[in-house]
Parts: sequence; C-alpha cells; structure tokens
Amino acid sequence: MAKRNIQKCSFCGRPADMSEVLIPSATETGTYICAECADQIHDLLASYRHETSSGVGHKNDKADNGINLKTVPTPKEIKEFLDKYVIGQDSAKRYLSVAVYNHYKRLSQPNEDDIDIEKSNIIMVGPTGTGKTLLAKTIARLLDVPFTIVDATVLTQAGYVGEDIESLLTRLLQVADYDVKRAEKGIVFIDEIDKIARKGDNPSITRDVSGEGVQQGLLKLLEGSIVNVPPQGGRKHPEQHMIPVDTKNILFICGGAFDGIERKIAQRLNTHTVGYSTGNGKKHINRENFLEYVAPQDLKSFGLIPEIIGRLPIVTHLDHLDREALRRVLTEPKNAITRQYEKLFKMDGVTLTFEPEALDKIVDIAVEYKLGARGLRGIVEEIMMDSMFEIPKSKIKKFNVTANYVNEKLSKLRPDMLNKE
Ligand code: ADP
Repeated sequence: MAKRNIQKCSFCGRPADMSEVLIPSATETGTYICAECADQIHDLLASYRHETSSGVGHKNDKADNGINLKTVPTPKEIKEFLDKYVIGQDSAKRYLSVAVYNHYKRLSQPNEDDIDIEKSNIIMVGPTGTGKTLLAKTIARLLDVPFTIVDATVLTQAGYVGEDIESLLTRLLQVADYDVKRAEKGIVFIDEIDKIARKGDNPSITRDVSGEGVQQGLLKLLEGSIVNVPPQGGRKHPEQHMIPVDTKNILFICGGAFDGIERKIAQRLNTHTVGYSTGNGKKHINRENFLEYVAPQDLKSFGLIPEIIGRLPIVTHLDHLDREALRRVLTEPKNAITRQYEKLFKMDGVTLTFEPEALDKIVDIAVEYKLGARGLRGIVEEIMMDSMFEIPKSKIKKFNVTANYVNEKLSKLRPDMLNKE
C-alpha cells in the first residue's frame, strides 16, 4: 500500500513534506530523523555539555545563558581561596563568600515561581591598605568573570566636568572584550565610595556636584536597569553610539575607608571612643574596634543617601592590620612580596632567603612610619635594590637578607621614599 512508503521522522512522526529534510539512518532502512528533531537534539546537547563541563563564566562560553550552580564554588570554598591570598579579614571574607555564592544562585534561579531573589551588592568599610581591593580582585580571579575597579572620585553628575557615571561600565565592557552578555554578569568594584558622601548629615539645599548627585546617578546602576554605555568611556556626546547594558546581574562591591566613622558608630552605641565605661548588663563592646559594629545607619550619618544604602544590603568591615598581620602579609599569601623576590632571584639562579629578624625589622619600619601593608613593598624594594643591581651574572648563588643588612639599607632613607603607591 502507498501508505507504507510514506517517509517520516522516526522520532516525531513528521512526514517528509513537512520537514526541511529527512536524514536516513546509516544502518536501518526506513528509519529517519527530520531536520527539526536534529536541531532540537543539537540544542539539548549544547545545554547538557554546558551544564556538565563549563565552569562559572567560562572564558569562551559565548552561549552562556545560565549558570550551573553545581560548578559554582561554595561559600566555604570561596573563603578558602581568599585565605590563600588575603591575610585575616575573616568577617569580610565570610560576607563576600556568601554574597557571591548567592549572586550566582540568583543567576541560575529557575523562573518557575514568583519569587525573585534580589541582588546583594556589598559595601566594605575599612582603613586604606587593608585588603578591600585585594579581596574583590581575588574573588574575580576565582570566578573568572569580567572584573573592573573604578574610582568613585572621578565620577560626576551628568553635565559636570569629570566622567559620566555610565562610564564605569565602559571598563567592564572593555575587559569583557565588548561581549555584552559576559559583561552583564561581571563584578564592578567601586573604590572610595566614601568620597562621594554628602557633606554633613542634612540634605543639602544647594547642589552637591561631587556627592549627592553622583550617588543619585549610581542608584540606577546598583538597582539594575538598562544603561546606555559610551563604548569609549569619558563623557557622552550626541554622535556617540551607545551600548545598552543591563546591570540587573552585575554585582557591585563598594569599598571605602570612611575616615572617622568609628566616632559615629561609638555615638550610636551610646559610648565614647575615648574613656571607659562598661554598661551594666549591656552587651560587651569591643572598644578597640568599633568598625566591627558598622551598620547602615552609620553610613547614613557619614553622608550616604538612604537609597544608596538600601541598594548595598550587605555591610561588612575590614580590620586594621596589626604587627602580626603585616608580618604574615610579607610571607604567607600565595603572591607574598618575599615570594616574588625569591622568584626574581631564582630566575638568575640565586637562592634568596630572609632571616626572620630581617622580616621583623621590615614590619617595624612599616609600623613606625604608618606605611601599612601597602608600604611593605616599597620597603622591600629599597632593601633589595642594590643586590638586584649587583647580583645578576655575578658569582653569588645564595643571598641571605639579615637584619643588619636591612638596617644598613634603610638607614640612609627618608620615610617618604618608602611609600611608593
Ligand atoms: P585597600 O583597597 O583596602 O585600600 P588594597 O587591597 O589595595 O587596600 O591593599 C594594598 C596592598 O596591600 C595589596 O595589594 C596587598 O599587597 C597588601 N595587602 C593589604 N591588605 C592585605 C591583606 N589583608 N592580606 C594580604 N595583603 C594585603
């Protein structure tokens, strides 16, 4: 019968005349697959392969529509990774790890119900040079997502001299090679957010060009909206072609020193930075470190507008680095300064070692001149300068840096020569 000879897809039953093409089986006569089924299988396979093999934000993963939570490191794993590069700052590390993990949960959330997990941008409060930028950089390294650092101080309200707020996304686009989809899942670290604080706690009557206006401008970026980004950055001008970027899934991490915020925290806690009083039955307060208690209302007293604070729901702090922490910064991180010099010397066939007392001495100088972790590099650089000049291609194969050597090299220097950054 004629009916028997009708060729159709063995998967969906589509007859030949309703398909672009029927592909016959290589082994079974009368078995076919239609173009439409082949397309579907192709798509299914692509998403299966993506789920099983790709990491988060894999570099060449252009078809990346979602994130597979199984491949995202857990908060514990994120923190362990941070521990390899950043000394101390446990509290900030925990908050960051959870926030980043939840961020990726958001990206992979199913659309099956009406619950929408909201973005959890972060604000880190802590003295300069304690690792805020380093933490953000290290997170980005782990996740392999586009990451950029922008300085809030260069931003101004539209119409004023300086960079338009949207331009902070230009850098994200640039590091993502203008792959908008990738940029839309990136991380932006906004440094010195405290510098755009409103001067004084009262809303200003006159316009505050660098402060409140910029905060207002930042709002729409932080909360998630489609922003027209000038591809070359700087100021927008009418002829420029703009790239629309959706900031809904971009994670913003803000950092700032917020100099003097301890006093505001202390006032709120109804205590005093100087002096001593232990409240009866009150919770014990660690007076050495008021930053531990930083809360959104302190940021408001400092001059951030409530709307901005609302979009930075995670507030965490970084501790001042004490002697012991500075000593660890010198040797422990994967990328520690002493390790970098050891590597430099090794490339010349020289084994470099540092006597423990020499390291103590370096820390002494950093503490004495209040140079902090950032100053450590400058100090080591000065100490090593002469040997780096003399040793290559000499007969020396081992070089031990002693406390005496450190003293000798540093005795002739002015402290301002040590702070290189
Ligand atoms: P911040 O952003 O808080 O001002 P950074 O993260 O830029 O400070 O720190 C400056 C440099 O000091 C870093 O590149 C790093 O070498 C060192 N550093 C600061 N804090 C730490 C830390 N907690 N652990 C290890 N190194 C640190």
